[in-house]
Amino acid sequence: MSYFSYQNGNLHAENTPLSTIAQQFGTPTYVYSKAALADHFSAYADACTAGGRDPANTLVCYSVKSNSNLAVLQVLNQLGSGFDIVSGGELLRVLAAGGDPHKVIFSGVGKTRDEMRLALSHDILCFNVESIPELHRLNEVAGEMGKRAAISLRVNPNVDAKTHPYISTGLKDNKFGVAYEDALACYRTAAKLPNIDVTGIDCHIGSQLLDDTPLLEALDKVIELIDQLASEDIHLHHLDIGGGIGITYDDEKPVAVGAYLGRLFARIDAWRNEKYQGVPLKVMFEPGRSIVGNAGILLTEIQYLKYGVSKNFAVVDAAMNDLMRPAMYEAWHGVQTVSQQNPDASSHTYDVVGPICESGDWLARARELAVAEGDLLAFQSAGAYGMTMASNYNTRGRAAEVMVDGDQVHLIRKREEPIALFALESLLP
Ligand SMILES: *Cc1c(COP(=O)(O)O)cnc(C)c1O
Repeated sequence: MSYFSYQNGNLHAENTPLSTIAQQFGTPTYVYSKAALADHFSAYADACTAGGRDPANTLVCYSVKSNSNLAVLQVLNQLGSGFDIVSGGELLRVLAAGGDPHKVIFSGVGKTRDEMRLALSHDILCFNVESIPELHRLNEVAGEMGKRAAISLRVNPNVDAKTHPYISTGLKDNKFGVAYEDALACYRTAAKLPNIDVTGIDCHIGSQLLDDTPLLEALDKVIELIDQLASEDIHLHHLDIGGGIGITYDDEKPVAVGAYLGRLFARIDAWRNEKYQGVPLKVMFEPGRSIVGNAGILLTEIQYLKYGVSKNFAVVDAAMNDLMRPAMYEAWHGVQTVSQQNPDASSHTYDVVGPICESGDWLARARELAVAEGDLLAFQSAGAYGMTMASNYNTRGRAAEVMVDGDQVHLIRKREEPIALFALESLLP
């Protein structure tokens, strides 16, 4: 089901016309659908309880970095989500949104002492540790606070996720996690540290995966490690397979979440029955894009149309600072006109570009559009890694964000005023 569709020739978010949102809140504006968020989360939650599986043995930890707006976190929290964070700032967001720190896991290769203290003071569920030095630092910080830190080691299963090199994270020559070959030694070290509780194992092999084969391959390698650890009397309580399921931007056909989880649980259940008398292991997930990516669009207005010798440009009021993915990954986003048809415009091929002084400032290339100045466009699939990657380059205030709930529209982040962007700066005396 699409949450952004034409009704009477006008593109809507649920039951709200996008033109009304543009009138009320201006452009550029990110528009999210609450129903889409809920449905995408349910795909995970439902698969986790299918066949009478005990909900206590699974936890979906939404990846906060994909979209960290407080209202997004609030909706997911109310649906029972946990959270995967990668900074102290993201933990503060989760808490501000009413999230439960006991359902928070902390990933990332560069956790500072301050971030560790903050997370320990809120008794988060688990630190996903990515190196031996981090393990020692965490042991030290926990000791100073008189606490014990629950940890999982992020292992690098060295499987090829077959995705864009910038979003592939499970190969042996990238910065994430500990090498598969070193994992046993790391666990032995961790098990001896006085302020560390070894509770789990995690991996995250990449993003925008269309097929679950690499994920199931990673699972097999993780299972092998868990067995080896058990034979050394290191018993893990959870297995976290990460996020990474892709979405349809253009004509991609990603594996359905339910089908993937079904295969994963079947493999895990068979293994537990064979080797552990059926004693379950808690299974965790860290999805981001597959929950929020197609729950949002970026609404923008055409400022100018420029006709050149070899190219035409539609210059819009959104730019690479609002939606970074095209400039960064050459990502493709669908573009829809908010009015299904403009009878006064003829069709041309345009590059849709922003006003920023960079040739890399494009949002879409070679799109056939029948548009005029002042028309509204919607960039599809912009809910994940859109606003969270936005910047203030060219002293542009970041876009407003709204959440649609049926025919209700809620402003969930005000448009940034340019004057606020330099409020922290000072002139020399
Ligand atoms: C980014 C990230 C995720 C989420 O990835 P998606 O592709 O958005 O599902 C999960 N876990 C970790 C450790 C990440 O860095």
